[in-house]
Amino acid sequence: MNNKKNKILIIDDSQIQAKALKDILEDEYDITISQTAQDGLNNAKTGVFSLILLDVIMPDLDGFNVLCRLQETVLTKYIPIIMITSLSDAHHEEKGLTMGAVDYIAKPFNPLIVKARVRTHVKLYQYQMNFRRQAMVDELTGIANRRSYNKNSRIKWREAIRLELPFSICMIDVDNFKLYNDTYGHAAGDKVLASVAQTISSQLHRATDFVARYGGEEFVVLLMENNARASFDFLKRIRQSVEDLHIPQNPLVARWVTISIGGITLTPQIENTYDSYAQIADTMLYDAKRYGRNMVVWSNENKEQWREKEAVLPQHHP
Ligand code: GH3
Ligand code: MG
Ligand code: MG
Repeated sequence: MNNKKNKILIIDDSQIQAKALKDILEDEYDITISQTAQDGLNNAKTGVFSLILLDVIMPDLDGFNVLCRLQETVLTKYIPIIMITSLSDAHHEEKGLTMGAVDYIAKPFNPLIVKARVRTHVKLYQYQMNFRRQAMVDELTGIANRRSYNKNSRIKWREAIRLELPFSICMIDVDNFKLYNDTYGHAAGDKVLASVAQTISSQLHRATDFVARYGGEEFVVLLMENNARASFDFLKRIRQSVEDLHIPQNPLVARWVTISIGGITLTPQIENTYDSYAQIADTMLYDAKRYGRNMVVWSNENKEQWREKEAVLPQHHP
């Protein structure tokens, strides 16, 4: 973990009260103050905060409403919220906790208690975020895992339908990888997978680009906006860049480690299903293997097939 201070947002219309909290916490945390509920909501959406201190009573929108809105928004729903109440209104505390606030702090502030409660919840938040991140990342390669792919592919697919954008699904498989492992060992094989993953992901620059380890020695790439021709050309470059790593393969089959790629581009309609098109990408990959490996085979919008290379001698494919 880095040494940068965690950021805390205080949403409180009372300048004096916000300042008092800031004084208690600013040694340990980077504090931002919002004096209206609306400004607080806007600030919270930046996604940089590890905790929010929220006043229950504010003139523009009361704290409970703000709490609800924060919990409805994807960007803010995991941020722990501590309600600020006064000693006299115990029912506020109860209401806040029932609605999902993690804790409350009563006025007048006891600095030690404020610090202790804040520290606990910031720490819990970090554990939770780490856990969430790990659950979505493939340990060996550091790119997204299958679970993350399942989630992201659905989201992106719906997005492409809504915005009527071309969408590409692309399956990648390392060639003769069983032989590589048998020749150089499993540990060396693991390193190859990490390098291939790195090489692919370093070429994906757009926010909408996505790559995951699909399983074993297979990867999946999703692209939005590129038409079939652009996607085909792009994946050819990726295929070439893996070959250019010049990782020695067993000379019986090839000089270097290579990958085969199968993909499809379409502009999805509401009646299309993701899985049926992922299936076509798989078929294209199968053909790339069949036609000699180390090549890209693509299906365009008209279901025509493009091959990067002429088929090498008819090959037996198991
Ligand atoms: P093809 O060109 O047809 O894809 O042949 P292949 O040998 O790559 O395909 P096959 O499916 O027969 O073998 C895949 C191999 O990938 C077998 C398995 O040991 C290896 N593999 C899968 N996951 C891992 C991994 O995490 N680490 C290592 N080192 N090897 C893996
Ligand atoms: Mg495979
Ligand atoms: Mg393989």
